[in-house]
Amino acid sequence: GSMWSKVEMAPPDPILGVAVEYNKDPSPKKVNLGIGAYRDDNGKPLVLKCVREAERKIANDESMNKEYLPIQGLESFLSQTSKIIFGDESPAIKEQRVAVVQSLSGTGALRLAAEFIALDPSWGNHHTIFKKAGLQTKTYKYLSPDMSLDFDGMKSDVQAAPKGSIFIFHTIAHNPTGVDLSHDQWKEIAKVCQEKEHIIIFDTAYQGYATGDLESDAWAVKYFAHEMKMELFVTQSYSKNFGLYGERIGALNVLCNDAETAVKVQSQLKGVIRPMYSSPQLHGARLVSTVLSDNKLKDLWKVELKQMSQRITEMRSALVRELTACQCPFPNEKFSSWNHIVKQIGMFAYTGLSAQQCAVLTQEHHIYCTKNGRFSMAGVNPGLS
Ligand code: PMP
Repeated sequence: GSMWSKVEMAPPDPILGVAVEYNKDPSPKKVNLGIGAYRDDNGKPLVLKCVREAERKIANDESMNKEYLPIQGLESFLSQTSKIIFGDESPAIKEQRVAVVQSLSGTGALRLAAEFIALDPSWGNHHTIFKKAGLQTKTYKYLSPDMSLDFDGMKSDVQAAPKGSIFIFHTIAHNPTGVDLSHDQWKEIAKVCQEKEHIIIFDTAYQGYATGDLESDAWAVKYFAHEMKMELFVTQSYSKNFGLYGERIGALNVLCNDAETAVKVQSQLKGVIRPMYSSPQLHGARLVSTVLSDNKLKDLWKVELKQMSQRITEMRSALVRELTACQCPFPNEKFSSWNHIVKQIGMFAYTGLSAQQCAVLTQEHHIYCTKNGRFSMAGVNPGLS
């Protein structure tokens, strides 16, 4: 027997497990709405033109070697990435108050933020809070049963949390609900967070996917950073908005009150990274920085990003139109239409379907989605009807 024969089988991942089931299904009608990855009008994965062009540029540039990157990542990427989220004219960047490191996409950035909060000696108080929770997480209220934002519930949870609690907010295009705060609601939340000295992590995985515009999708971060002048963690992922899923490229920004602190913070982040994976991957950073530092490619990126977000918006209307036309019954008695799908933004539709209803969709119709009733709208295309 093996020394590991007693090891129990780990449960399948609730999101990635859907793809495994999907791949096993021989039906030609099958649709995968489980994975949050963009698909074109024919249901095919898409590599952006700006990315293909950047790859050609990189391939033809003999000066680009394959040396190790510094622990913090590719310098040209780092200087560009913070501008994408904080804005070109960000005072925080001009005053050198942003400590930024390259990360293994958005997930890696979140993990670095958590490690930093748990480790950094200058955050002693917060450390205790984090540890007291035994690295356990709590949820705050967010969604009402009718699929609208439970703003009062959210605000009172933020208010009731112990001083200095860590909150993860979705910058834009909330996953899985597709329901975001309005600007006025963010202002109210920001005020409470400032009063309670909460630590905010803005998780940014869909910048550009909500409105099709990078600037307006970063509104919440900029408001907290520039108007409220709060210290913040901001994670960035280029998986969705650059279609660079497998390249694993992202960043963690720590916005500090002064430049001196930012230098110290970055040194601590490097201390987290070095024993974890030593230094980050090169290619994704090079792709993103090649596009961002070439105005023509950057403009092309913005056009392509708009096209992706528009196609998803169109698919929302198309889906609701079809569901309404065929008088599809609603998920439960709390619904009187499918219009919540059109109101939601970002990559997902949070349909309200139960796990049993999703199972019927899969078994009878070969439609695959996560058990919480989340559809990746990118998986929907006009050929499906
Ligand atoms: N945060 C949220 C809310 C997400 O939806 C995702 C992607 N599914 C991520 C972070 C990070 O994804 P990745 O590691 O691929 O960048």
